[in-house]
Amino acid sequence: MLFSELAVYFSRLEETTKRNALVEILAELFGKTPPDEIASTTYLLQGRLAPFFKPVEIGMGEKYVMDAIARAYETDRDEVRKRFDRLGDIGAAAREMAAESQVAPAPEHTPEVREVFERLTGIAGTTGAGSVERKVADVAALLARLDPLSAMYLCRVPVGRLRLGVGDPTILDGYSFAKAGDKSLRKRLERAYNETSDLGLIGQTLWQQGIEAVDALTIRVGNPVRPALAERLPSADAILAKLGRAAVEKKFDGFRCQVHKLGDEVKIYSRNLEDMTGMFPEIAQGALKQVPAHSAIFEGEALAYNPLSDEYLPFQETTKRRRKHNIENAAQELPLRLFAFDLLYADGENITPLPYVERRERLKGLIQPDDTILLSEERIATEPSELLEVFNDAIQGGLEGIMAKKLDAPYQAGGRNFNWVKLKRAQAGELQDTVDCVIIGYIYGRGKRSAFGVGALLVGVYDPDRDVFRSITKIGTGLTDAEWREVRERCEPYISEEKPARVESILQPSVWVEPEVVIEVLADEITRSPVHTAGMNGEKQGYALRFPRLISFRDADKRPEDSTTVGEIVEMYGQQGAKAVPA
Ligand code: ATP
Repeated sequence: MLFSELAVYFSRLEETTKRNALVEILAELFGKTPPDEIASTTYLLQGRLAPFFKPVEIGMGEKYVMDAIARAYETDRDEVRKRFDRLGDIGAAAREMAAESQVAPAPEHTPEVREVFERLTGIAGTTGAGSVERKVADVAALLARLDPLSAMYLCRVPVGRLRLGVGDPTILDGYSFAKAGDKSLRKRLERAYNETSDLGLIGQTLWQQGIEAVDALTIRVGNPVRPALAERLPSADAILAKLGRAAVEKKFDGFRCQVHKLGDEVKIYSRNLEDMTGMFPEIAQGALKQVPAHSAIFEGEALAYNPLSDEYLPFQETTKRRRKHNIENAAQELPLRLFAFDLLYADGENITPLPYVERRERLKGLIQPDDTILLSEERIATEPSELLEVFNDAIQGGLEGIMAKKLDAPYQAGGRNFNWVKLKRAQAGELQDTVDCVIIGYIYGRGKRSAFGVGALLVGVYDPDRDVFRSITKIGTGLTDAEWREVRERCEPYISEEKPARVESILQPSVWVEPEVVIEVLADEITRSPVHTAGMNGEKQGYALRFPRLISFRDADKRPEDSTTVGEIVEMYGQQGAKAVPA
């Protein structure tokens, strides 16, 4: 397929916000894409050159893209900057200049998607002395071979502004419609996606070898597995009524790590499947030292540990430490421990189908005792009182609660279900669990706060069925000046003139924000609401958070699609008022 044809599909996707229409356009695009271009087309649709877990980046900011545009259209950076300032989009600036220039060819003379993708991949791989100059020259050479519309989309890729409103579930539906004419393949594709996290690989396998080959795609070292997630229940009684007997562990408020080991290479992936190996050198070393198996995938919670006070520090400290420049130093001053809690793969064998108790036994056998990787302690509880003993112990130790695990359950990648149930401590008048929300807009403030340009945040939660974000509350009070400033800084790159494609909201903020920034919010209560769209359905009112306050920024370990779902909100609404610990 010519890159210019792909650009036309991009513009059609950009113009619509209707999910069915998006899926239809994708199905048409995939239907016309040659099998060996499915993977590259899929990554490009996401503004990328590789799956999210591979840190392949073009590595050119706005300034250098402007240089490339200037060189391609034989002008200078100031001219490009002028257009950029006027149009507010570097892609639109390139499009305008391409249209005016003598250089840009007609759409039918652009290179194929395959070639553009290969060149961009080459640019991403350019390193060493003079690499910036070579990148600028290569992008300029590529631009000179593209028609104006193609030039616009190409320039949006390196600066992370290719926002087509297409999330992963929408791409999976696009595949299914392209191959089967309906949604019937979605479940099978999703299973492969949960185990390999690589949409391009799945598309390519489907096109080249068919759905049976997709069914055979499974867990492999080097591809992060989408994590199993926990449901909520309001009390110890409710948990044991649901699970029968359960393994109960402390719930560590740390950083979830999925450790992949193959020979003497270790990779560590975050909750949102990013490669975080460089941030956790001591855990990578610990895995080499304490795990003799040739290959393994196991999970645990990493916590900063202060050896002087013998204290375990919470998530916030862990991320603070990660932000420090000198990780090696931080690793010495504030070493991390990993509390391992599950095993997914060992010595070439996928063990996720095994019951929890067996995986746990294998995990015990996998790890040689030492200081860095510790096995999270567990107790089998049959009576609520036994479960509460672990709960109280956890709370006394400054932790936030417990995780109860069903003894005969497999590890279900990418699933939030009752195989795991969390029970957290709650203060009177608070919801038992925090809600992870995505910022979708902000409302200008008056008085002191207007100095920071934000007065209240409009936030939403995720609706996975429709792959959109729906409003749930406004957060106006309780943020410190520094937090407002931070909000502003984090939202700045995502400001949008129009309502973003994947946002549904009746309320109109002063400024829309692309759904990218995830925050953790604690509220007193969930109420029904005629103005918020989360859970709104025809005549049925939506749901809102009452008295919300910001607890933390969660972009380090959550993608927007990992935020709390509308379904979870409905469930939490039903569980309100129950007490974790009987009075
Ligand atoms: P989630 O990860 O479920 O979306 P969240 O980020 O809000 O939710 P919580 O709901 O507070 O986190 O707790 C779930 C997380 O707790 C898991 O993802 C895992 O990182 C962590 N965790 C801590 N201790 C354990 C444990 N013993 N077993 C399993 N998970 C644990």
